[in-house]
Parts: sequence; structure tokens; C-alpha cells
Amino acid sequence: MTGHSERAHALLSASGSKRWLRCTPSARAEGLYMQELANQGIFEPESEFAEEGTQAHEYSEIILDRELSNITKAQATRRINKFKKEKKFYGPEMEEMVEVYTDYVMERVNAARLETPDALVLIEQRLDFSEWVPGGFGTGDVLIVRDGVLEIIDLKYGKGVPVDAYENPQMKLYALGAITAHDVLYDIQEVHMTIVQPRLDSISTFEMSAEDLYKWANEEVKPKAEMADNGDGDYVPGEHCRFCKIKSSCRARADEALETAKAEFADDGSIEVNTSDPSTLTDAELAEILFVVDDIEKWCKDIKAFALDQALSGTSYEGFKLVEGRSNRTIKDEAKAVELLLEKGGVKEDDLYAPRKLETITNLEKKVGKKAFAEILEGVIVKPPGKPVLVTEDDKRPAIQSAESATKDFADDLLD
Ligand code: SF4
Repeated sequence: MTGHSERAHALLSASGSKRWLRCTPSARAEGLYMQELANQGIFEPESEFAEEGTQAHEYSEIILDRELSNITKAQATRRINKFKKEKKFYGPEMEEMVEVYTDYVMERVNAARLETPDALVLIEQRLDFSEWVPGGFGTGDVLIVRDGVLEIIDLKYGKGVPVDAYENPQMKLYALGAITAHDVLYDIQEVHMTIVQPRLDSISTFEMSAEDLYKWANEEVKPKAEMADNGDGDYVPGEHCRFCKIKSSCRARADEALETAKAEFADDGSIEVNTSDPSTLTDAELAEILFVVDDIEKWCKDIKAFALDQALSGTSYEGFKLVEGRSNRTIKDEAKAVELLLEKGGVKEDDLYAPRKLETITNLEKKVGKKAFAEILEGVIVKPPGKPVLVTEDDKRPAIQSAESATKDFADDLLD
């Protein structure tokens, strides 16, 4: 068993596999960058989101250990009470979301035991897939192995980025590690991989045959992992750059962003131009630009943030200087300010304070629990239509039927 907060990270990690499978030199490049930072005494602190996720995993493990009778009820109660007392992210929301996840796991365990009474259930298992990926290992949240079928279930506690099990390389690498360890006893033919993301109400499962999994491992993963381990191959920018540690200074990404921008504005004859007024863009030209504008915008933001960081650490960029940004006045001693205003300002005490403001919905939900919050405030919470946005056609949201009604709904909403 591996401690949640001590889950080690290999150079070719399963969580980063989407990236190094597409852009093979990225893993070594990231490693070098992190080493450089470490040499300067700079270490990335664990983010609040990561800490929250770690705690949700810890809590789930206690609940599952209790449900699976790996520990006694008394031991579970002691561990739960300690957890509740010590962990800052524990609250009704975590209680409820962990219950969604652990209920699902127990449902799957019971279903597996109906088929194979001695089905194997393992929590927080270290999985070794180094046969295909040098140094490759990871930690599987839950493994259920019954005759012929391996099931892997992973909890994703975050809600910022939706994660789907479909063709998910991290899950497939975990499955490889698990299958290697248990194939002999259970003759595994099928692999079921599930990601539970309770805060986004999402449970997704992807199934494949063990044969296809091995084919993917041998034909795709192994050669790419070897290249990645050696730092070989071409830099390939794409959507996977999002969490790359060198995304701001990566030349390939910069080249692509600049090339894309140039290409979109170049008149190469592929898109119809406005012959009656060549100085303005046609709708077709604007649509082409809209396709790439988000990526370019993201890259620009990353570059600005990176350069500011570097400048603050002493780098100077020709033609640029560091200045103080805009700031707002603040009262450094509120009690003193109140005292002086009452004494000399001629105002009543009540007039010195802003009206009490209710906490945000997200924070109230955390305090009460998502389910209870929805039940208690049924009919009191409304969700007005969102401000219209232009997205690509493959977006899952239904299109607004009429631009006129969208504008009206939005304007009404502003007036309310
Ligand atoms: S930013 Fe993108 S292209 Fe550059 S190394 Fe990272 S993953 Fe590869």
C-alpha cells in the first residue's frame, strides 16, 4: 500500500502519459526544467486542489476498508474521527461525494462476487507497468478481479477539468500493471476501466479486451516510452500542452501559435475574400480565425505569466521594465478607522458597515452537503441562462435557437 500524499512520480508517469505519448521529448524536457528549479531551491508547493484530492482519497480508503471488513468497525470509527478532526477539507460535501464513490465501488464489488465468489478486491495498489514503460508504476485506487474480468476504478475528486475513461491512457497503463500481476490466477480476457468524478456527477466506463490492451502496449506504448525515456522524437504541440511544465517556454508551442496566427491571416486563396471590400474580413475568414483564437490566447497568457515570473527573479527583457501595477486603497486598522469616523466623521455606526452578504453557493454547498443543499433550497435556487458564447460545433451544449431570444434572455437577466 502506498501513502496518498507520498505517491511517487516516475519520469514517465501514468498521469502524464497523454502528453509523453503525443510529444515524446516532453518528459525529459520537463525533468530538466524541474531539476533546474530544484538547483535554485525552488520547489512547487502542493496546490490546495491536490491536497483536497489527497484527503478525499484518504477518507475513501477508510470507508472502503470498513465496508470490505479490512478493519473492524471500532478501528474505522477511530480513524474517521481522527480524520474529521485533523483534515481541513473534511466537511459535508466531502462526506457526500466520497459516499457516491464508495457506494459505486461496493456495488461493483457485490456484482463481481455474484459472478466469482472469491473475487479479489484491492485498494490503493501499486501497479507496475515497467515492462512497457521504463520505471513505470502508479497507484490504482480500486482493483476488482473476477474470473476473466479485471475492473479498475479511479476517483477523481477535482471538478475543474472533466476526465473521461474513454481511451484514457492513464487508466490503460494502470490496467496493464494490474493485468500483469493477476492474469495467471484469473485468466483475464476483458478490462473495464471506470472514472468516478462525483463533483461533476460523472461516472464513465471504458471497456476493452485484454488482447487489444496488450496490442496497444506493445505497438504504441513501448516504442514511444523508449523514445520518451531517451528524450527522442519531435515536439508535438496540442491540447496535451495544457499541464506541461515547460508550456510557456516551449519553442514548438510558440512556433505553432505564431505560425497558426500567421496562416489564419494570410490570404492563401483557400477562403473566400470580400471582393467588394477587401479591407474587411468575411464571415468565412472570421470563422477560420475563431477556430484557433482560444489556443493563441492561452499561449499569450502563459507567455506573459512566465515572463513576469522570470522578470521578478531578475531576468531583464529588452524594451520592458517592471513597474507597480494598479492597486486599491485598503484600511490597515479597521477598529481605528471606525473609532475615528465615529468621533470625527459625523456618521452613525450602522452606516459604517456594508450589509451582510450571503456566502457563495459553492461555499454554502460545502458546508451543508450537495444533496441536502439541493433539497433544502429547492425552488429557491435558480439558474438563469448563461451569457451567450460562441463555441465549436462539437461542444456538448445545445445551440441557442434564436440569437434574438438569447440576447433578450440575457438582457432580462441583467435587469432582474
Ligand atoms: S509544451 Fe507541448 S509541445 Fe512543448 S514540450 Fe510540452 S507537451 Fe511538448
